Amino acid sequence: MLPMLTPLLKLSQRPPTTVLSFSAGQDSAMLLALALEDRAFRQRYIPGDFLVAMADTGCEHPETGSYREQAEALCRARDIPFLHVTPDLGHHSPAWQTLHTQWARNTTIQARRFPKTCSVNLKIYPFYRALNAYLARTYGYPETVGRVTRAALYAYAQDYGRIPVMIGFTCGEERRLKPAPAGFMTQTVHRIHPLMDLGLDRRGCQEGTRQLGFEVPYPSNCMHCPFHGPLDLMRLHTKHPDSFALWADFEDRKLAHPKWQGGRNHTVMCNDKTLWQNLEDAYRQYGPLPAEELDALRMRHGHGNTTSF
Ligand code: SF4
Repeated sequence: MLPMLTPLLKLSQRPPTTVLSFSAGQDSAMLLALALEDRAFRQRYIPGDFLVAMADTGCEHPETGSYREQAEALCRARDIPFLHVTPDLGHHSPAWQTLHTQWARNTTIQARRFPKTCSVNLKIYPFYRALNAYLARTYGYPETVGRVTRAALYAYAQDYGRIPVMIGFTCGEERRLKPAPAGFMTQTVHRIHPLMDLGLDRRGCQEGTRQLGFEVPYPSNCMHCPFHGPLDLMRLHTKHPDSFALWADFEDRKLAHPKWQGGRNHTVMCNDKTLWQNLEDAYRQYGPLPAEELDALRMRHGHGNTTSF
């Protein structure tokens, strides 16, 4: 039985809130454009207030950072709160301040076959901690009650029902739909997928965003994401050679460390080839391509990410 979480004087005359889980990529750009410009979309999905929130992994592409700044300014101009959840706000755990702090701390990397602890720790947890703090500030709920650390989310759910959080999965990404993990997510959050409801795939999102007069951003997965394909490796190496070398360095250190010896010592791509070897394969397959062409290919193909929340 949960303790009483709402204040005695109920403040729930405030309208409810719908949240956009923003990644600054192509799918959430479509959702933001719809929320800002399409009245029917707003009537269907945003009956009250609107909040845009994005958790920072510390490893975003520079284009993602610039697009996030633009989106933030746009929201500010429309009086829509935008939470950019950076580690200094205190919602990231000490072990997961950024992708690299975690790798340095544990001499590890993210690899294709490893559990997606990076998404959980750098995106999901900081996002919902920040949302809890936002609801506490906005609706006058306590942030924590005894051992209930997400008390504002629970209090909001008691007053309004589970808070709707828009996720930018598109048609064709149905494999990413998984049940919410047990606990606060099931009890306080209602994940909604408007792009799927509207029948929009990635291409539809790109066209729709343009039609609504907005810029289409690059896909937004991290610079050092194990789900990069060969063309992404070539693009990273061509445009940001130091960043590629740093990533390969983390991989080298992990492969050489005593604690990973004696078992299957996976590389980033889990194909028994290092990043440098995968890069060589990519160059053999595609030949050298100019940066502009690599940009255009990344813009068209999207990311290969498969996270499910
Ligand atoms: S984009 Fe890739 S590296 Fe970044 S958090 Fe998601 S799965 Fe991890």
